[in-house]
Amino acid sequence: MTAKPLYRRVVLKASGEALMGDQHFGIDVSVVDRIASDIAEARALGVEVGVVIGGGNIFRGVAVASKGGDRVTGDHMGMLATVINSLALRTSLVKLGVDAVVLSAIAMPELCESFSQRQATAYMNEGKVVIFAGGTGNPFFTTDSAAALRAAEIGADALFKGTQVDGVYSADPKKDSTATRFEHITHAEVIAKGLSIMDTAAIALARENNIPIIVYSIHEQGGFGEILRGGGRCTVVSDT
Ligand code: UDP
Repeated sequence: MTAKPLYRRVVLKASGEALMGDQHFGIDVSVVDRIASDIAEARALGVEVGVVIGGGNIFRGVAVASKGGDRVTGDHMGMLATVINSLALRTSLVKLGVDAVVLSAIAMPELCESFSQRQATAYMNEGKVVIFAGGTGNPFFTTDSAAALRAAEIGADALFKGTQVDGVYSADPKKDSTATRFEHITHAEVIAKGLSIMDTAAIALARENNIPIIVYSIHEQGGFGEILRGGGRCTVVSDT
């Protein structure tokens, strides 16, 4: 374990489903509060934190399209869902005394500020947690891609992908008891092996910008801080 955190500036990506807790839909505030406490711990270590939350706990565009609906409108609805989740996370962070701001890729000035790279970087330099809402602002993308994009834009040292399990496995550990966890794997290997930790566009963007992806369990309280201190359980996806 190191006294100095491993990374100075990171982006944390959590899926919308991570906010559901035991529910089948929506937001469990106690779960959001717990994720907020992990972010507060990272801030206390001096790490600058940007966050991207998905919207799958509320809406996904593909679900509409699969039933014959309009994909673009569905994706707009999905992006709005990420704004709902982002506002919930900001509320939980503020409750803990953490200065946090939501910047949306889709303008909605009554609710939050619009994203710009300049403003996001300025807020992060001030030590605010910046929550990037609205995905990329474009249909046919995902919040994984938005997280990789924002990580590149703000010069993040690492992209943390909070998942259901504690790293990247050779197969789904919930279905295959022989699945083994990688300590380290390259971006290219993740793509070649078809390991579904993030979508390919997100992994390719991270790779092009030399951003390591740290895959860990979002459900492990304190796990984020532990990894930042040089311990914890995770898989590091990097080309070095
Ligand atoms: N979405 C989009 N463009 C983006 C990001 C998200 O259209 O740049 C839409 C898309 O419909 C997606 C939904 O928002 O299904 C929720 O995002 P995502 O599926 O990535 O959420 P997660 O699976 O992480 O909860």
